[in-house]
Amino acid sequence: MSGRLLEVRGLSVDYRVGRGRLRAVDEVDVDLRRGESLAVIGESGSGKSTIAGALLRLLPIANGTMTFDGLDWASLRGAPLRRERHRMQFVPQDAGSSLDPRWRVRESVTEPLVVAGTATREARERASEMLERVGLEPPLQERFPHQLSGGQRQRVAIARALLSDPRLVICDEAVSALDVSLQAEIVNLLVELRAERGLTYLFITHDIALLPYIADRVIVLYLGRIVEFGAVRDVLDHPQHPYTQGLLSSLPDAFPAGGVNKPVRGEIPDPANPPFGCRFHPRCPVAVDKCSSIDPNTVVVASDHAAACHLVSSTDEPTNPAAPRTSVPSSLLRKARS
Ligand code: SF4
Repeated sequence: MSGRLLEVRGLSVDYRVGRGRLRAVDEVDVDLRRGESLAVIGESGSGKSTIAGALLRLLPIANGTMTFDGLDWASLRGAPLRRERHRMQFVPQDAGSSLDPRWRVRESVTEPLVVAGTATREARERASEMLERVGLEPPLQERFPHQLSGGQRQRVAIARALLSDPRLVICDEAVSALDVSLQAEIVNLLVELRAERGLTYLFITHDIALLPYIADRVIVLYLGRIVEFGAVRDVLDHPQHPYTQGLLSSLPDAFPAGGVNKPVRGEIPDPANPPFGCRFHPRCPVAVDKCSSIDPNTVVVASDHAAACHLVSSTDEPTNPAAPRTSVPSSLLRKARS
């Protein structure tokens, strides 16, 4: 089946802090087509893992709608949610912490299938086949998690995620704990599996260098809001937002188009107390007066490419003023998906 797999509108997620609340994700829209790979990139504290948690229905949402695989995903509760959870699976940063240290890895991978009603023998065979496919030969399958390397444990997590035949696989910093050569191995494996099985991925990452390898489109997130959105090639070759340019400037050899000499200064502010106006203004190397008082609208710069900055000029169509700020305008999304 082709078409849209995931449509998120106006997603907001709050955390309770003392007696107050902190808005970690603010009015974010996400669209994902079947077979597509979308990256969400930003620093620690940008809210990207919170989006993953909300999509996985592990965190309550404050506002917004989520339609996933034809289901009103945000409204599912209890048994219906448990029944449908297999459709969206997760590969965490540290697979070791998600595996029971007392179980051999083949048992860990077999168990969810048995719980879902598959006969034990069939579940064991399917688990073993999948583990082999991700590169774990039978002797390794009999080991305990602590007897495997970090890369091998990530392979176990991938096998477990794929066994339930998910429509969407969310990879949350799935390679960031690995050294560079292992990162390349796991990224290659994920790319191969996507081509082989028509998988749809949502990649959460802070590493902009991974984008060309893992994603078709990217959302750049800053303090809980989308500041730039577009096809990976467009965003890397023509970054519009000073934050995106700053991220790229850390890798000037790989991405010479990204704002060399415009590094992002300082630390991300406390999400409990976001700056007024443009949230990026205290760190922005090109901020102008109005940046500290007026929140920028999202501006379409090209087909399927938009950024939220006062200095970005529209070369396409005007931003829909009714669209939520710092989300991709509905007009753009309709055009991009048609
Ligand atoms: Fe920088 Fe102003 Fe653009 Fe924000 S709106 S990114 S502060 S120039």
